[in-house]
Amino acid sequence: RTPIDWAAIRKDFPVLKRQVHGKPLVYLDSANTGQKPSKVIDAVDDFFRNHNANVSRAVHALGSEATEAYEAARGKLAKFLNVRGDELVMCSGTTFAINLVAYSWALPRLQPGDAIVLTRMEHHANIVPWQLVAERTGATIKVADIDEHGDLDLQHLYSLLTPEVKLLGVAHVSNVLGTVNPVREICREARKRGIVTVVDGSQAAPHRPLDVAAIGCDFYAITGHKMAGPTGTGVLWARREHLDAMPPFLGGGEMIREVRFDGTVFNDAPHKFEAGTPNIAGFIGLGAAVDYLSAIGMANIEAREQELLAYATQQLDGIDGVRIFGRAREKAAVISFLVEGAHAHDLATLLDLEGVAVRSGHHCAHPLMHHFGVPATCRASFAFYNTFEEVDAFVAALNKVRKLLM
Ligand code: PMP
Repeated sequence: RTPIDWAAIRKDFPVLKRQVHGKPLVYLDSANTGQKPSKVIDAVDDFFRNHNANVSRAVHALGSEATEAYEAARGKLAKFLNVRGDELVMCSGTTFAINLVAYSWALPRLQPGDAIVLTRMEHHANIVPWQLVAERTGATIKVADIDEHGDLDLQHLYSLLTPEVKLLGVAHVSNVLGTVNPVREICREARKRGIVTVVDGSQAAPHRPLDVAAIGCDFYAITGHKMAGPTGTGVLWARREHLDAMPPFLGGGEMIREVRFDGTVFNDAPHKFEAGTPNIAGFIGLGAAVDYLSAIGMANIEAREQELLAYATQQLDGIDGVRIFGRAREKAAVISFLVEGAHAHDLATLLDLEGVAVRSGHHCAHPLMHHFGVPATCRASFAFYNTFEEVDAFVAALNKVRKLLM
């Protein structure tokens, strides 16, 4: 492996040069949304300046350029995930992707007596769509527990996989605890029992090499804005047999072959799930993001972030009264924490005045907060563009803030 010049890579991100409240920005909120390198910003800018046209409609030059660039992004994403391009539905993000599975796959299939299994560490995006399905079909939801370290209790999970279970939803990586779940093993167990699996890969795709084909799931969802791409982009990967069997979720232009008032013939998947004008510029940006991440190498990114995580964890462990939530066996670079006697929002507000951006709140994971018995946590989340000096700045700021709040 060739050594990476991380300082040079950091310079690719214009916003990281900013100051906030007169202090250099220390951006530790990448699990919320990632920053964008110039290559992504330039790709979006170039599209609007030089190629802007709608896709799949016009035969003129700009129309073909736009279509080619948009479809090229699909190809790049397919390669990035190690799946087939014709199994990728381009959509607005993980939230849309999971709802598509809920409405097109689950809603027509589930019945009273059926069950859905989820885990206690799911993001609301992998809970609420299933509650809506359960409400409308009469299915029930069962929840797999986690242990005190934030690891899934696999024995409990497998004990829930009884014959009435039709679907299992699981996060590949927890956005709150950083836990990396053994999704390959989990999907194998589910598959043995004929249970369809939906993996929420939102927090995995930006941080580690992915081989979705090897995971053996049925559906895998990712969101572009967490992986250096523009907001409003995401992808659902699904096995071709599911895509062929699923009815469209939204109707409109682009998703049809022929429309008559006595009946409409839909386009083939994935296009039958892509009604209306898509986020063309966004996907061209996401294609550039995939190129950018791949050029650095996801294994290099993972290794860098693991070093930052280890260093930050060690530093935080050295501060009195800091409680870290989540010490899973395998963990992504996310640290949820609280300081004794301080509210998460107060901590985040005071850290912001020091230039340090962390997220505070429930992180769209109410059930997980209930599990730990806290209303909210602060979360510092790292990306490869962060530095060890930033960890030091964060720790110094936290020490200062802690004293203010005591
Ligand atoms: N799942 C997880 C684990 C997430 O972290 C997020 C984003 N916070 C989502 C789903 C939802 O992603 P989006 O809002 O981009 O659809």
